[in-house]
Amino acid sequence: MRAGVIVVGLGSMGAAAAYHLAARGVRVVGVDRFAPPHERGAHGGGSRIIRMAYMEGAEYVPLVRRSYELWRALELTAGETVLTTTGGLMLGRPESAAVAGALTAAQAHGLPHELLNPAEVRRRFPSFTPADDEVGLFEEIAGLVRPEQAIAAHLRLAATAGADLRIGLAVEDWSATEDGVTVTTAAGDLHADRLVLAPGAWAPALTRLRVPLRVQRRVQHYWRAADGTWFEPGRFPVWIWEYGPGKTAYGLPAVGGAVKASLHHGDEAVDPDAGAAPVREEEISAMRAWLATRLPALAAGDWLGSKPCLYTLTPDEHFVLGLHPAHPNVAVACGFSGHGFKFAPVVGEILTDLVTKGSTPHPIALFDPARSFVDLG
Ligand SMILES: Cc1cc2nc3c(=O)[nH]c(=O)nc-3n(C[C@H](O)[C@H](O)[C@H](O)COP(=O)(O)OP(=O)(O)OC[C@H]3O[C@@H](n4cnc5c(N)ncnc54)[C@H](O)[C@@H]3O)c2cc1C
Repeated sequence: MRAGVIVVGLGSMGAAAAYHLAARGVRVVGVDRFAPPHERGAHGGGSRIIRMAYMEGAEYVPLVRRSYELWRALELTAGETVLTTTGGLMLGRPESAAVAGALTAAQAHGLPHELLNPAEVRRRFPSFTPADDEVGLFEEIAGLVRPEQAIAAHLRLAATAGADLRIGLAVEDWSATEDGVTVTTAAGDLHADRLVLAPGAWAPALTRLRVPLRVQRRVQHYWRAADGTWFEPGRFPVWIWEYGPGKTAYGLPAVGGAVKASLHHGDEAVDPDAGAAPVREEEISAMRAWLATRLPALAAGDWLGSKPCLYTLTPDEHFVLGLHPAHPNVAVACGFSGHGFKFAPVVGEILTDLVTKGSTPHPIALFDPARSFVDLG
């Protein structure tokens, strides 16, 4: 029987889409070139930050709010924990995007938050040593999501709801006409009424969009401090620290004993077929040097390992999410620019709306796949 919807890519966003489609009774075929969760794309590494006072734009707040609801609903259905509330600390100068952007979003949406001067940051969170001209915005609801568990739960529940998941099958091409869509794989063609494209780092080759997408490598570093109790969820928040113009580091409390601290910026282009290069010694020492003046207990601790991962960046670092400009029966979700995971369940809901009803009540104008970047240079 011909499928209702084919979902290409069953990672963070595609797994959520497959689940929401199947749960709404749609006949879904999902395809992934690997076996998600895996470490070849954007979701590996054990933990992802979730926060509501969104420095990247107040427009994201209703979407994060809905994501919190859907993460909790997923936990109830799956019978496991994927989201842990830890509190979140945005650090930097008062005018930095990390602090001022989070404050703008918090004020626009009446979100609970506290502004802390550097002495208050040091007293409340003794692991952090901000400079005298830096402040912290604390948000209690922030926390971490476990990406591997979340993707596995979405896929398991999708299959239980009837989705046909083809794992280890690469999609080579696709076409769409008014009569439906055809997806080409080494195992033959697949046909359906509609198509969802969520191929992560492979989006530049597969989506045929005009939005310029850059695939870059980032490294996640894992540490263990001598007194690890200070870094457990409950005592240690998720954090983002803007320490210079365009320079941001972030970290999360211990998951399985490993505390994450990494740099958000970088510029190393990657061919996703070749994969990201392993961590280099100088990257570990640079991270340790960065931590030495800001989180000295971590810098003095043991390095446990590092994992590379892929960012797919748009020029404005806003997502690409909507109907394909050339094909109204194709929805696309890509270009999550290093901050998409927390939104996975609402993206799944939005993609389901788009391919079943042609529109969504969620606010996604910011993510228009047809937007122009001529003015951005
Ligand atoms: C180091 C790092 C840290 C991050 N930290 C955070 C954070 O703290 N908070 C947050 O919210 N976000 C964070 N992100 C971003 C977030 O993880 C990504 O935005 C999100 O995982 C992107 O999901 P995706 O579905 O687009 O890609 P993926 O999860 O990689 O899924 C894409 C899938 O498509 C499959 N695929 C590709 N091409 C094909 C094909 N031709 N045929 C079949 N299958 C195909 C791939 O195998 C893959 O499984 C981070 C990302 C990285 C790399």
